[in-house]
Amino acid sequence: NVRVRFCPSPTGNPHVGLVRTALFNWAFARHHGGTLVFRIEDTDAARDSEESYQQLLDSMRWLGFDWDEGPEIGGPHAPYRQSQRMDIYKDVAQKLLDGGYAYRCYCTAEELDERREAARAAGRPSGYDGKCRVVTPEQQAAYEAEGRASIVRFRMPDEAITFTDIVRGELTFTPENVPDYGIVRANGAPLYTLVNPVDDALMEITHVLRGEDLLSSTPRQIALYKALIELGVAKAVPEFGHLPYVMGEGNKKLSKRDPQASLNLYRERGFLPAGLLNYLSLLGWSLSADQDIFSMDEMVAAFDIKDVNANPARFDLKKAEAINADHIRRLDVKAFAEACEPWLTAPHAPWAPEAFDRAAWEAIAPHAQTRLTVLSDITANVDFLFLEEPAEDEASWAKAMKEGSDALLRTARAKLADAEWNADAIKAAVVAAGEEHGLKLGKAQAPVRVAVTGRTVGLPLFESLEILGRERTLARVDAALA
Ligand code: GLU
Repeated sequence: NVRVRFCPSPTGNPHVGLVRTALFNWAFARHHGGTLVFRIEDTDAARDSEESYQQLLDSMRWLGFDWDEGPEIGGPHAPYRQSQRMDIYKDVAQKLLDGGYAYRCYCTAEELDERREAARAAGRPSGYDGKCRVVTPEQQAAYEAEGRASIVRFRMPDEAITFTDIVRGELTFTPENVPDYGIVRANGAPLYTLVNPVDDALMEITHVLRGEDLLSSTPRQIALYKALIELGVAKAVPEFGHLPYVMGEGNKKLSKRDPQASLNLYRERGFLPAGLLNYLSLLGWSLSADQDIFSMDEMVAAFDIKDVNANPARFDLKKAEAINADHIRRLDVKAFAEACEPWLTAPHAPWAPEAFDRAAWEAIAPHAQTRLTVLSDITANVDFLFLEEPAEDEASWAKAMKEGSDALLRTARAKLADAEWNADAIKAAVVAAGEEHGLKLGKAQAPVRVAVTGRTVGLPLFESLEILGRERTLARVDAALA
C-alpha cells in the first residue's frame, strides 16, 4: 500500500516548487490508489506562521488537491502538525540516546568553528569531527559543572550508505561526507533532521518524493531510520525519489524569493488550477512526446514516478501561459463565464456592481473565451460594456485617431444609425464608410473601435457593437466627435 506525504513548512507564501512537489506526490498516490498524508512541519517557531499555514491550506484547496490524512480531516496518525507532536520527538530522542545511537555533544560554536577552519586549512573534511562521540562520565560532569550546553547529535555509522533513488538510480555517500549531525538543539527543540524521518516512520510513509535540494539529507535519514527500526519505532526504510531542480531566469535555480515563483501571482493573474498544474507537471515529467496539454485525470492515469527526469527543468512563463490558454479554451462556456466572475466584480472591476449586465456578459463570453491567456485579462476586454464611458487610453487614441478620422467617423455614424443591428450589418456599414474615404477595413475600423471601447485592441469589434447596442454606440461616436 503506497503512502506518500506532502510536508511543507509554513514559512512565507507558497511557491511553484512546493506545488510541483505536492502535485507529484498527489498524482503518485492517486495513480496507485494509495494514501496522501499532508503534514505541517512547523517546529521552527521563529519562521513559521499561522497566516502562512492558512495560506497553504487555502492554496492546496484552490489547486484542487485532496488529501487522505492531515489537517482539518485528521487520520490514524493525528495530529498532523509537528508543533503538536513535541512529546513524541522528545521520547524518540531519549530512546536514541539510551540506545547509544545518539550522544550529547558539548562542543561550543566557537570550538566547532575553530576546528572546522583548521580541518579546512589542512585539507581534511570539515564536518563534525566526532570529538564528543566518547565522553567519560567524569568529563561529562565537568562539562555540566562548567555550565556548558549540549545538543543531541546522531552517530553516523562508519560505513558508506548506498540507496537506489527512484529518479536518479544508485547513489553512494561515504562517511567523510556525512558527519554526525544535530537532532535536538541545546534548548531541547527537536530539528528537522529528527522530526521529519520520525514522522515518516510513524506515519508509515513508503515513498519520499521531494526536491533535489534535500538529497544530501537522505543518507542521514536512512541511517536514522535504521536506528529507529532497531528501536522498534520504524518498520522499514522508505524509498526515496528526488525531483529535479527548477531553473529560472539566467539558468539560476528558481528561488522562493523570485517573484515568478509565487503561487499567488498565478492565482491573481487568473491561471486555472488545471492549466497551472498541467504546466508544473512538465517540470520533470511528460505524458508523451507529442501531447503537452492534458487533464489531471489523464496525468493520474499515466503517472509513473520512474519516468521523472533527473535533469534540471527550466521554468518558462510563456509556455505556462500558452498551456493555460489551452485550458481556458477547453472549458465549457458556462464554466468559463463563472471562472471569470472574480474579475467582473469589485475589487478587480472598476464599474459599479449595478452596471454589470449579465445578459451582455453571456453574449460576449464566447468571444472572450477563444482569446484570453489568463482570466484577469477579461476586465479590460469587456469594460466597454459596463463603464459609463470607454476607458481612457491616450496611446490608443493617438494611434487610431488620425487626420481624416473625424470624417470617417461621421460617415460611419450615419450608416450605423440606419443599419440593421447585427454584427454582419454593422460590419457592412463600417466597410461602406471606409470605401467612401478610400480606407480598407482595418484602417476604417480603428477609429470606431477606439471611439467605442477606448482601446485599439480587443474582442471582435462588430459583435462587440452588437452587444453594446445601437444607442450607446452612437452616443460614443458622438462623444468622440465632439
Ligand atoms: N518541511 C520540509 C521542507 O519544507 C520537508 C522536506 C521533505 O520533504 O523531507 O522542505
